[in-house]
Formats: sequence, C-alpha cells, structure tokens
Amino acid sequence: MSITSLTPHPTSISDVPETMEAALFYKPGDVRYETVPVPKITSDELLVKIESTLTCGTDLKCYRRGHPVLLKSFPSPFGHEFSGIVVRVGSNVTQFKPGNRVVAANSAPCYDCDFCHKGNHNLCEHLDLLNGSYADYLRIPAQITAHNTHKLPEDVSFEAAAFAEPLAVSLRGIDLSGVSPGDHVAIIGLGSIGQLLVRLAKLKGAHVTAMARNPLKMAMAKDFGKADSLVNLRDCFDVEQIKACYTPQGKGFDIVIEAVGLPEVWEKAIGLARRGGLVNLFGGCPSGSSINIDTRRLHYDEITLISPFHHTPEYFRKALTLICEGKIDPRPLISKQLPLSQVPEALETVEAGQAIKILLTPKQPA
Ligand SMILES: [Zn+2]
Ligand SMILES: [Zn+2]
Repeated sequence: MSITSLTPHPTSISDVPETMEAALFYKPGDVRYETVPVPKITSDELLVKIESTLTCGTDLKCYRRGHPVLLKSFPSPFGHEFSGIVVRVGSNVTQFKPGNRVVAANSAPCYDCDFCHKGNHNLCEHLDLLNGSYADYLRIPAQITAHNTHKLPEDVSFEAAAFAEPLAVSLRGIDLSGVSPGDHVAIIGLGSIGQLLVRLAKLKGAHVTAMARNPLKMAMAKDFGKADSLVNLRDCFDVEQIKACYTPQGKGFDIVIEAVGLPEVWEKAIGLARRGGLVNLFGGCPSGSSINIDTRRLHYDEITLISPFHHTPEYFRKALTLICEGKIDPRPLISKQLPLSQVPEALETVEAGQAIKILLTPKQPA
C-alpha cells in the first residue's frame, strides 16, 4: 500500500537571491562568467542550487566547435553534469520539497512520440535537453523534474552523484555491447567515459585492454578501472601488432569500444575485432565525417557494428543505483577542483590531457 503524505510543504526557501553568477557560452572559444537573473520556474518545475558540477567531453566539444542540438540560442546556458539542493518547488510538484538533495539527468523523453512508444527513449523527438549547470542555480524543466530527477541518500556525496549522467551513458554502452565474463574487450580512448567503460567491463568479468596516448589516463585505467593490459597508442597503433600481442592467438578482440570520436579511430576499431566480434563505435565524430569499411571484412567476418547514443531514464536510474550502492565510486576521476569562474581554464586543462574531470564549485554564500 502506498501512503501519500498530506502534510503541506513549503514551496520555496526564502533566501534565493534575485541574481546569480553563471558561465555562459557565447561562441566557440568564448565562455563568460556573468551576473544573470536566477531562473524563474513554472508550477511543474524545480529550482536547484548547484553544489557540484563536472566538466564533460561533450562540453569540451561544444567549447571548441559549438553544438547544433545542445546549444541553440546565444548566449547559452552551459554545463550538464551536476547535483544540488532543491530550493524552489512548483506548486504541481509533489515528489520533492525544498532542502532535498538531488541529481537530475540532462534530458528526459516525452513518453508520447513514436520513438518513445517503441522504447527508443534516447531518440525521443521531444527530448527535453538541459544545459546550465555551470551556474549557482538551475531550473529543472517539467519533463526532467517528472521523469529524471532523483533524491540522494544522505551518505552519497554531491561529487559522486554528479557522475550519474556519464555513468548512465557508459552503462548503456556496456550493456548494448553484451560484455560477458571472460570476453576480451578493447577500450580505445580513456577520457572520463573510457575510464567508466573500463571499470564497468571489469565489473562484468571481462579481460580489458585499455588504449590511449596519454600516460595519466593509462595510469588511471589501471588504478581506477582495473584494466588488465594497457596499450600506449603513441608508441604503436598498428592493428595487427596489437591483436598479435593482446588477444588469444592474435585473432582479435571479442568486443571493441571506441570512445574517442574520430573517423580514423572508428576504422581502426573495426580492424581490432575478431571474426564474429562486435564493435561499439561509441565516440561521436564531427558532423559530416565518414568512414571507409572493407565490405568483405564486415560480411565474411560477420562483424557487428553498433553506435549507441546518449542514455535513457532507465539507465540513469541504474547508474545512480551503482553509485548509491558503492559498486562504483567515480570520485578518483576528479583530477582537480576549480571555482565556477574558471570554466574555460577547466576545459582547456582537460583538452591538454592534464585532467580527466574537473569539479567546478559555485562560490559559497558569504
Ligand atoms: Zn556529460
Ligand atoms: Zn518521445
């Protein structure tokens, strides 16, 4: 039996200021830290005070080349991996109250379009995308408030919870790849998503070979991800040589996951799979790029290609559960902490390969 609390709760915390600081995206390479009004909410929305927000590879791509879907009007709110405290609650919202510690995904499906009806929630035609966590406060749109916002247990830190979104993407990527115990899995690219893929594949019982060009990231794949073997691609990115050294009888990997997002690496990833293997082309490439595939290899070697995109509420929930149950503590991936005023510096540090993720923290009230 479910019991609905009839106790009225306050709908706002009175000390929310009129203005806040936020990092706004003006154009590629131009992000400014400015004073802007605190967002107003409708009766179906929440206002959350940001406690932790993280840099993401997608934000770095946006910073360098913009984004046709995520960043639409300029200056645009920026940042999407976060956790925080509910400070205002729309009058129709019953499941949250001021003071709740929460994490929310950066999107939610409509559950009403053809794609949603087919279960492709990540491809929803009305996917409500959220940006703006590089700010003191963030408005959580109705669809996300209703379907993709979760309360945090007291013992789960804001820093760990903010990883729910990249972990959801990674978990879906591992599940769709069908990783099983004993599989030889190659993971190419060891940014934050690559690191989470390594860790998740190890949790599934796979034998994991992690590949990158950056020693810091390779060391992290060993310490955090528990990778079995490491390949420095700066020394060698010869497909046949890697197969010969790192797979049984040199036949290739059962599963290859590309987490770089470059067409030439997609092509090499296909070359690393064994006959009958699966290749997950997971890193999104620049718009308009294309790859060449040897049709003989694809057909007569029966290679399966998949290219999963984004996450779903189901996976967001599963990822958060992994964090809450302590099966994954992603916090070692935070290389350093910077104030919210330094978003460009943070993204440039990640770009230079000197950090995996940077935790950005709003200034605390005086
Ligand atoms: Zn992200
Ligand atoms: Zn939909």
